[in-house]
Amino acid sequence: MKLVILDRDGVINHDSVNFIKSPEEWRPIPGSLEAIARLNRAGYRVVVATNQSGIGRGLLDMATLNAIHEKMHRALAAVGGHIDALFFCPHTAEARCACRKPAPGMLLEIAQRYNVSLEGVPAIGDSLRDLEAAARAGAQPLLVLTGKGERTRLAGGLPPRTTVFADLAEAVTSLVSS
Ligand SMILES: [Mg+2]
Ligand SMILES: [Zn+2]
Repeated sequence: MKLVILDRDGVINHDSVNFIKSPEEWRPIPGSLEAIARLNRAGYRVVVATNQSGIGRGLLDMATLNAIHEKMHRALAAVGGHIDALFFCPHTAEARCACRKPAPGMLLEIAQRYNVSLEGVPAIGDSLRDLEAAARAGAQPLLVLTGKGERTRLAGGLPPRTTVFADLAEAVTSLVSS
């Protein structure tokens, strides 16, 4: 089974330092939805793993998070794309949970759900914590330079074997042509 794990904010949609708190604030990065559709056509299952501490901070509730994700699923469907499953961590950093990236909890849960090893599975993110979670779970870390990605690259200290792409569209082109 071919699997790709994606971060959400800064990879699929534009990020905001003030959190994405409403469907209106969720705006796709150009080419990202079409890239997910290309992955699907190439036989990949696409799973999202996203930190959403805005829930734990009380900035948005579950109904709003669901509405944001409905908008994402609809926008994706319109271009023939599909997200197989979405895992999110609602906790703040202070909660010290096992799921908030850079902890590998969500990725390990994905491995369990699909009963696969994450060895070689691309995990695409824009923050160091995405790449660290990927490395800790045994997946292949891919950094995109959208969202916080440019800052992440400049800050350095990326896990070994991290590969870097301009955006999700470029990362997907590399995956489906290899
Ligand atoms: Mg992100
Ligand atoms: Zn958590």
